[in-house]
Amino acid sequence: MRTELLQNPVFAMAAAQFDQVADFLELNEELRNRCKWPKRLITVTVPVRHDDGRTEVYFGHRVQHHLTRGPVKGGLRFHPKVELGEVAALAMWMNWKCALMDLPFGGGKGGINCDPRNLSQGELERITRRFTMEMTPFIGEDIDIMAPDMGTNEQTMAWMVDTYSTRAGRLVPGIVTGKPLGLQGSAGRTRATGHGVAFLASRALNKLGVEMNDATAIVQGFGNVGSFAARTLASYGVKITGISDVTGAVWNAGGLDLEKLAAHVDATGSVVGFSEGEAIDPREMLVQACDVLVPAATDMAITRENAPLLKCRVIAEGANGPTTPEADQIITERGDIFLIPDILCNAGGVTVSYFEWVQNLQRLRWTEREVLTRLETMLEGAFNRVLSFAEKNGLSQRTAAQSLAVKTVADVKSQRGLFP
Ligand code: NAD
Repeated sequence: MRTELLQNPVFAMAAAQFDQVADFLELNEELRNRCKWPKRLITVTVPVRHDDGRTEVYFGHRVQHHLTRGPVKGGLRFHPKVELGEVAALAMWMNWKCALMDLPFGGGKGGINCDPRNLSQGELERITRRFTMEMTPFIGEDIDIMAPDMGTNEQTMAWMVDTYSTRAGRLVPGIVTGKPLGLQGSAGRTRATGHGVAFLASRALNKLGVEMNDATAIVQGFGNVGSFAARTLASYGVKITGISDVTGAVWNAGGLDLEKLAAHVDATGSVVGFSEGEAIDPREMLVQACDVLVPAATDMAITRENAPLLKCRVIAEGANGPTTPEADQIITERGDIFLIPDILCNAGGVTVSYFEWVQNLQRLRWTEREVLTRLETMLEGAFNRVLSFAEKNGLSQRTAAQSLAVKTVADVKSQRGLFP
């Protein structure tokens, strides 16, 4: 099989994880290959006129991992290092996340190799609109629905809706999710991922018999996921003792005041210098004693170096891929940490994206309470499925989550059979 197009370390990691799960599920060679390789790899060139009059050609990729269980769903990122193989790996992970949550979607991911920090709003708008036009033959509200990711936001999604709808001659809000509320975005979408992380952490504490009011948490990252995870945990009565961002970390053993911290971050751009906490080395912060540790910043935050030193009872993976495979093995061998794996723990975002799409197709408007209640019901269902599958088969919760997801996809492929 020719796979040079996908030569990339991130794809190699996703493929290795898949192979391990496929071995456990004893998938035959045929089904294994049909599940593993992406259905469509689409690369387009995106010529864009810059403000200074010169034209630059960017490369835009979209990988549709498979369309077996429905349209593909996944983010679009703007980043200078975007590569087809990495996009394919992210599409594969989205695939398993959608299957685990039983959403009627396959996984997709896209990216354009531009640096949004060096582009004006006008340039970003032209890149987005031209990419949307180039992708029009391959997307649709029942084919491929994009969403914001690194370097893109709800404004990017608004431009995509406008471009697609202008060409269609009618408003097509369901072409993307993560839109502004006024353009038929969903209530609750902004807080969904962090809310889900905190909700599942509370379920884990409950299993361990820890009272919320007695519990403490440490959160790495104070962006979208980290800040809403911290706020929701605090609303349950959990004390947030440490928070870090890319610039440093703050600590208060009595519990940080999150609203004051958010105001400080708004004013200064960083958690550093917050007057109601002490400075702490961000690496040291991760290994302090706590009930819940929430890595909600980057991949590979928990490594073979710090995994043996962790003093938490629960790891709630807000970020994608925050635990390296070596650290994962150490945590499994330790056996004293309840790990909620990323494809389950941060699935609140894609689940509320699904709700946004459903509301768009049916012209419905749900309240934030309705959205969060439905979200909690779906997360709780997936959490219980993962726990009982792990227990029944003697697997780690990560392997159990991935196995359930891959099995869901493999079963549907078998049921549909092979055309022709
Ligand atoms: P964000 O850009 O809003 O926030 C990232 C935060 O992490 C910032 O506070 C930043 O300062 C901090 N950070 C960056 N590097 C750090 C480091 N080395 N140490 C400590 N802090 C650091 O991003 P986000 O949307 O919150 O996403 C965070 C993670 O969650 C990513 O892995 C993302 O893929 C994943 N995720 C996000 C969503 C979502 O809906 N936003 C959904 C699923 C998964």
